Amino acid sequence: MLTANNTDRKSWLEIESNSDFPIQNIPFGVFMAHDDHITIGTRLGDWAVDLNVLHQLGYFEGITLPEDVFLQDTLNDFITLGRPICRQVRNRIADIFDAENDQLKNNQEHRNEVLFKVDEIQVLMPVFVQDYTDFYSSREHAENVGTMFRGKENALMPNWLHLPVGYHGRSSSIVVSGENIHRPKGQTMPEGADKPVFGPSKLMDFELEMAFITTDGKHLGESISTDEAEEYIFGMVIFNDWSARDLQKWEYVPLGPFLGKNFGSSISPWVVTLDALEPFRTEAPKQNPEPLPYLKCANNTAYDINLEVYIQPEGGEETRVSESNHKYLYWTMVQQLAHHTVNGCNINAGDMMASGTISGPERENYGSMLELSWRGSNPLKLKDGSERKFLLDGDTVIMRAFGQKDGLRLGFGEVRSKVLPAKD
Ligand code: CA
Repeated sequence: MLTANNTDRKSWLEIESNSDFPIQNIPFGVFMAHDDHITIGTRLGDWAVDLNVLHQLGYFEGITLPEDVFLQDTLNDFITLGRPICRQVRNRIADIFDAENDQLKNNQEHRNEVLFKVDEIQVLMPVFVQDYTDFYSSREHAENVGTMFRGKENALMPNWLHLPVGYHGRSSSIVVSGENIHRPKGQTMPEGADKPVFGPSKLMDFELEMAFITTDGKHLGESISTDEAEEYIFGMVIFNDWSARDLQKWEYVPLGPFLGKNFGSSISPWVVTLDALEPFRTEAPKQNPEPLPYLKCANNTAYDINLEVYIQPEGGEETRVSESNHKYLYWTMVQQLAHHTVNGCNINAGDMMASGTISGPERENYGSMLELSWRGSNPLKLKDGSERKFLLDGDTVIMRAFGQKDGLRLGFGEVRSKVLPAKD
């Protein structure tokens, strides 16, 4: 029972109506408060809640939880408990902060220990990512990139409509919002040159993606079916998969992305549970040709989550450069996870599976500079009058994501990071 999702519920905490974090959200994250104190927490409006202190004070009584499950610097142990326990915790948090419940509300001493203003805390990486997989599941993105590199006739590779294409990425360089990224250096082959050169990337790009975080899976050798897959997905974050297009273009044949991708990916700090996203389920795109039976799913759903990208030049204001939606993905998360494990590959709590760049049908829905500027041939105009083909040093890229339906709005907050000059 997802009692936390009750849309009639109000909180005794004051939460602005346009906040991404109403009482119906209750995401999970990790933060550092006073005196370098690190805890697992949730967020309500502009408040961060210390779940370890709540646990020590007995507010989770009746739920089977290890004593130190929230006194951790990652969510991995909590996620390992599985979705049914996480669901009970989320429901209980909703009860604790419900306007009808004055247990914590009227206990100022407890409130002082539990509640922090979000501008007084520092968010940290929410999970230890043991493995990171990047899919390539937006048809519009695959067609755009394919058209640029191989022409319209050969835009989609022959396998693309039959399986969710993906590759194993680098998990150690995934960082949380607020950490800035240095422009990478590497080899590139300039147009018309006959030998490569070395230097800072000239074609620095973002990729607008969402990633899902898994629970523990099955043993090596076993598979997770499409019917089971949802129970193995804990929640989601916004995922900016930084890309150096010039490095990528020169290195990617025949084994795929490497240094053009592994120098950094940035995520939003609060993991929104799949449970909280339940109201935003929507029909998944029709698939033609029909996928093989192991990729079919009785209720294959997409999620209607609005996605936005902004660029903010050094000292300037934000310009929105893209508006997309998670529902544009051709292959759903359930299909991605079933495909990932169909050969017996195992998954662990905290694994991160990114969607691939999520582009929509129109230019304003494209999820990368590569597509928005069409390889640099059609620059974007920012509010300050400057133009962008790709990202410049000092540009801050901000991605936001939220669902909005029948008066309910909830979201992910943002992932924000600045492009710093290449290191000497
Ligand atoms: Ca990617």
